[in-house]
Amino acid sequence: MLKKILIANRGEIALRIIRACRELGIETVAVYSEADEQSLHVQLADGAICIGPGPSGESYLRPERIIAAAEIADVDAIHPGYGFLAEDDDFAEQCEECKIKFIGPRSETIALMGNKARARETVKAAGVPTVPGSAGAVEDPAEAVKIAEQIGFPVIIKAVAGGGGRGMRLAHNAVSFQKEFNAASNEALKAFGDGSVYVEKYIEEPRHIEFQILADEHGNVIHLGERDCSVQRRHQKVIEEAPSPFLTPELREKMGKAAVAAAEACNYWNAGTIEFLVDKHRNFYFIEMNTRIQVEHPVTEEVTGIDLIKQQLRIAAGEKLQFKQDDIKIKAHAIEIRVCAEDPARNFAPSPGEITLYYPPGGHGVRVDSHVYGGYHIPPYYDSMISKVVAYGPNREIALDRAYRALSEYLIRGIKTNISFCRAILRDPVFVEQGATTRFIEDFFKRAPKDLFEKPEEPKES
Ligand code: ADP
Repeated sequence: MLKKILIANRGEIALRIIRACRELGIETVAVYSEADEQSLHVQLADGAICIGPGPSGESYLRPERIIAAAEIADVDAIHPGYGFLAEDDDFAEQCEECKIKFIGPRSETIALMGNKARARETVKAAGVPTVPGSAGAVEDPAEAVKIAEQIGFPVIIKAVAGGGGRGMRLAHNAVSFQKEFNAASNEALKAFGDGSVYVEKYIEEPRHIEFQILADEHGNVIHLGERDCSVQRRHQKVIEEAPSPFLTPELREKMGKAAVAAAEACNYWNAGTIEFLVDKHRNFYFIEMNTRIQVEHPVTEEVTGIDLIKQQLRIAAGEKLQFKQDDIKIKAHAIEIRVCAEDPARNFAPSPGEITLYYPPGGHGVRVDSHVYGGYHIPPYYDSMISKVVAYGPNREIALDRAYRALSEYLIRGIKTNISFCRAILRDPVFVEQGATTRFIEDFFKRAPKDLFEKPEEPKES
């Protein structure tokens, strides 16, 4: 087993990794920016090294500083978490060159699957259905419009290097295509330093359903079922659940097999996620692979009973998977709410600042993964997510009731949050009865009570 690892991340995921390491007897070293000196991950890790000023471009996104810290601390491995350098193949390669184990797949796998056009071609060759679209990236707008016409409008233009819902544009006809093509390419160049784009059929009202993969370094690959992540705002996930209320057992089995085939097609190892869109006729299409642990991994942990971070550490230590596909049983229903420091009344603008009072929910069937506390100051530099509330139970109804109850008792003062917005979703009849499609939030805004965003979040003073 690994003896000592460095965690190249912050926030709740850094804490989550520290906890798994503690249980396995692995020593941990945190890295932190000057803005994170008071963070819990710094306090809870066995050691901590400052890697620079607050802005992530000067700290958490600097491979050379992280590798220097890893060498000073003399660790066996680096866990990248999610975001920051987690899907940076150059960083993974530098770790490999320095003989520090990168807790994730090989750098060449990250590079292959991080290029969304090449990823599509790779899994397609293995027989996995992909969204109809261009074969690889398209440079020439005139050629692209021809492809779009062949596929049939509407189409979506996506950045090859894309992520986080950025660099994606919808085109309804050949006239608007040119403009959207240029906009997507420019946006991609700015955000990712690579302006290449590809074209895909726009699937109307799909569900986003992804499969969790675990693969060891000895060629064994299994899946741990799906997560339905259709509740999205601007292509970013807000609420995730497992199992999906939309899948039949037959479709689950078929998609699970396709997910395993996709992972095998890129010689994958460690934890990863295969993302699919499912249309209203229950046809499914691969959209991309995430070569890291996901934000929403606790949902899978609560329905399977398997600790995914421990699995990542075991795999990185060279162990074989302890499970076969048949050992994986979905025993519960779980739902995760991403609680963010943002103001729904001001178009979800970030709301950093000091948390003056903090009381998280608890009780039967509720798990909160968070790094914040009363008196904590949320720095303005990073993601606005401050916690994940995961509620679980024997069926969807109980899990939803617990999630609603948990959000109702969550007290956070001093900053604005999206808690009442998410609570309203949990009681929305469409969500409760049918689950969501990816346009759920757009429609929900139209029918939500008018005073939803005007109500003060603060509880009454007594
Ligand atoms: P990113 O890597 O930026 O997260 P994805 O390719 O994973 O981008 O897509 C994010 C979301 O965008 C999907 O969950 C879905 O809501 C929407 N989307 C992506 N591709 C399509 C498509 N072809 N048709 C309809 N919606 C899509």
